[in-house]
Amino acid sequence: MTLIPTFDLVIRNVRIEEDGALLDIAVQGGRIAEIRSGIRCEAIEDVDGEGAFAFGGFVDTHIHLDKACILDRCTICEGTLAEAVRETARAKSGFDEEDVYRRAARVVEKAISHGTTRMRSFVEIDPRAGFRSFEAIKRIRSDYAFAVDIEICAFAQDGLTNEPQTWDMLDAALSNGADLVGGCPYTDPDPLGHIELIFALARNHDVCVDFHLDFSLDAERTDLPAVVEATHRHGWEGRVAIGHVTNLSAIPKADVLKIADSLAAAGIALSVLPATDLFLNGRSHDLLVPRGVAPAHVLASRGVVSSIASNNILNPFTPYGDASLLRMANLYANVAQLSRDEDLSCVFGMVSDLAARQLGHDTGLKTGADATIVLLDSPGPRSAIREIARVIACWKGGRRSFDNSKPRIHNPR
Ligand SMILES: [Zn+2]
Repeated sequence: MTLIPTFDLVIRNVRIEEDGALLDIAVQGGRIAEIRSGIRCEAIEDVDGEGAFAFGGFVDTHIHLDKACILDRCTICEGTLAEAVRETARAKSGFDEEDVYRRAARVVEKAISHGTTRMRSFVEIDPRAGFRSFEAIKRIRSDYAFAVDIEICAFAQDGLTNEPQTWDMLDAALSNGADLVGGCPYTDPDPLGHIELIFALARNHDVCVDFHLDFSLDAERTDLPAVVEATHRHGWEGRVAIGHVTNLSAIPKADVLKIADSLAAAGIALSVLPATDLFLNGRSHDLLVPRGVAPAHVLASRGVVSSIASNNILNPFTPYGDASLLRMANLYANVAQLSRDEDLSCVFGMVSDLAARQLGHDTGLKTGADATIVLLDSPGPRSAIREIARVIACWKGGRRSFDNSKPRIHNPR
């Protein structure tokens, strides 16, 4: 007599590649025990995936939970970067911990419902925000750990050399629960001094660095070479990310490829943030408004760890948003005019596996891996991007964290 094994969970009839064979995924003790077709077993939770595409979940490498959902207290007249920074700086003086918690929870719950299982949130820590946003996002990180792993990046949005108190506050946050440090050289009167001060914090606390960088359409004005040089000088290869770098959209492709090679050699990752970049760039143009979105797929093709991320949700930087990375990936593919299968596979990777690598994780589904599994109503990743597939369900560490029962059409006839 053959003993039939019993698992905690089995998800049957799913695909793990585009139009691939139907497989079953068995889970035990929060880990994937087996992936193959026709697993004979009993399970506490037995799910029919009905041909869904299964993968390890979306990863948002760059989001600002602390300043999300503040359109009710901001005015947008110009739609420029300068106005967004100014309006948000004014609004954040009035943030209290409960207010930040409520707004961030709204965004995190939306992200969970859109299949996000990991994110890096920037949190502004400076004399205006105090530690109130930081305390709120630490509670969010803990309260939503059942569904999403949140990294906190202690972030200097409004400069450092002009406001030395911010450096001390970031230093304190890094001793008190922040996971990494983030800088923004283009809002500092001394961008190169800013980069050095951020690296000093990273070295003191042995943490990764994430810069908002080169947010303009000016090909000549760039802090990128300084970040590459500092990364090598400090031995921080593989521990630095940069976001926006919209001026890469204003640089000839041959030069972009050279920059890509220097980023790949320095192990510097790139987050492209299409919703914000499209909204804020090119405001001086009446006609033929430039897109201002860095060609992340081109950099990825040269070995740069690249991702597509949300950045801002419902604030003066981006007065839209639902925290859906699949929608963001579709937006990027549309703006970058991509249609070939290999390009769409790359785009899916930039919100899943490649994005996870940027945060130092592996979300691939394989035996022995963490059983964080998301099902999409789609035959595979490329179709999911093209159609913005519905997210059906998520399990984090083998435990169900989200469920979206099948929509039904009610025909009255
Ligand atoms: Zn940002």
